[in-house]
Amino acid sequence: MLSVIDDYLILGAGVSGIIMAKELTANGANVTLMEAGEHFNKDTYPQKEIDANSKLYWGGGIELNHQATIGFLRPKVVGGGSIVNQALLDRFDNVALESWSEVSGIKDFNVEKMKAWYEKAESGVKIQEIPKEYRNANADIFIQGFKNLGYECAPLKRAQSGCEYEKGNDCIQCLSGCKLDSKQSTAITALPKALENGLKLFSQMEATRIEQKHDLIIVHAVDKNKAHHTFKAKNLILASGAVGNSKLLLSSKLKNASLMLGKNFYTHPQFMSLGLYEKEIAAHKGPFQAMKSDEPHFRISKFKLENVFAPPVGLAMLLPGFGKKHMASMKKLRHYACVEVAIRDQVPGSIKLTSSGRVHITKELKGDDFQTYKRGEKVIHQIFYSTGATKVINGELSIGLHLMGGLCIGEDSKSSVVNPDFQLHHASNIFCADSSIFPNAPGINPSLTIMALTLKAADRIMKKANHS
Ligand SMILES: Cc1cc2nc3c(=O)[nH]c(=O)nc-3n(C[C@H](O)[C@H](O)[C@H](O)COP(=O)(O)OP(=O)(O)OC[C@H]3O[C@@H](n4cnc5c(N)ncnc54)[C@H](O)[C@@H]3O)c2cc1C
Repeated sequence: MLSVIDDYLILGAGVSGIIMAKELTANGANVTLMEAGEHFNKDTYPQKEIDANSKLYWGGGIELNHQATIGFLRPKVVGGGSIVNQALLDRFDNVALESWSEVSGIKDFNVEKMKAWYEKAESGVKIQEIPKEYRNANADIFIQGFKNLGYECAPLKRAQSGCEYEKGNDCIQCLSGCKLDSKQSTAITALPKALENGLKLFSQMEATRIEQKHDLIIVHAVDKNKAHHTFKAKNLILASGAVGNSKLLLSSKLKNASLMLGKNFYTHPQFMSLGLYEKEIAAHKGPFQAMKSDEPHFRISKFKLENVFAPPVGLAMLLPGFGKKHMASMKKLRHYACVEVAIRDQVPGSIKLTSSGRVHITKELKGDDFQTYKRGEKVIHQIFYSTGATKVINGELSIGLHLMGGLCIGEDSKSSVVNPDFQLHHASNIFCADSSIFPNAPGINPSLTIMALTLKAADRIMKKANHS
């Protein structure tokens, strides 16, 4: 049994956790980082999709809401979401930030005040647009469909450094971890420097409960063999993502725990539709996700569209039917184009624990959110039929992969969990700046903002430490 004592203990080595570790260690702090998932590198990421699902995600690949209508993808690996995500990085616009400011009461949420933090976040990664010549036929259908309908679309910006498209590399593989170290995951952009600066990293170590004792925080954890360990620290940083942080705090029953804990949970629910074409599309080839909608009235209507595709196991879940019928649909894999609609959900869900301590997520697509999805889906059908599709199939399952909220940030301790200095309202030595502090759904890719907020939080934490 280990017993580790440090100044700062970070729970979760994802986007926020690793950036926080890099910043704190760069300032000379003693830091321990604990991660439930494994630590892979470009040569050891799982090769097969089915293995990647079980090794890189909680719940064996997918977790479900209580009605089993939305599947949540929750990463569990050193690097967190930055290992499995598409690395599409966008700053939030004033629509998102002003709405955050309104609900949280925090004036700093605006494009001007966030600018310096976004710039710092962007300076740590290489961001590229996918060169036109490598766009695949699925992207061409997306562009043509937008043209036919008179709508605007734009290229996506991706954190990547050299995807070797010229050598025929298919980026769909990097959903299981990038084998070229091109995707700018925090495991390659920030972790090496943090380790060099003395970070102690414990992978395959899951935090199970937190206790407050005098000025110290005690974290109970189990390793891959189910052996128990305790870690003690003067300061705790929660970086286990929306579901992970809520689960930990709900299991811990801290003094004065916020009644808002686990509430305001958003996911940007996504729906993929497939257009069937006579010609071969091969939507999995090359950079499989390259274009997005850039249409102001879509933003007002709270949805966006992107060209996308899924590897075979994912596709099998989306296609309807069973047995021979399903197999016949799968055999047409190379003839599908695919577009997703992601919605800026307004109806929040909640994260609770069952009596046996399991996570129970209530999240439904209802009211305005359902209407928003239907509006987006209609445009996708128009794109496909205007470009020659013979049939359109709507995916069977909605996916939530931007998991946000549960510890929302705000001025008022009655309506939020984390204060504007990124501390829990009632525990000044517990901090959080990851996706769980989002007060509502921005409708924009969240990672760059998680990075920017973490840099801002690290700055506040270090200033506070130097001051005291
Ligand atoms: C398939 C996919 C594609 C995506 N594409 C994009 C995209 O293109 N652009 C974008 O901006 N966003 C994208 N996202 C979302 C983005 O990856 C997440 O919003 C982001 O990773 C959240 O960062 P985080 O630091 O809050 O948590 P995470 O990065 O999820 O890290 C949390 C870490 O904490 C660990 N953890 C949880 N509980 C415990 C515990 N009890 N003990 C120890 N460790 C624990 C987890 O294992 C995990 O590694 C995508 C997500 C997915 C799944």
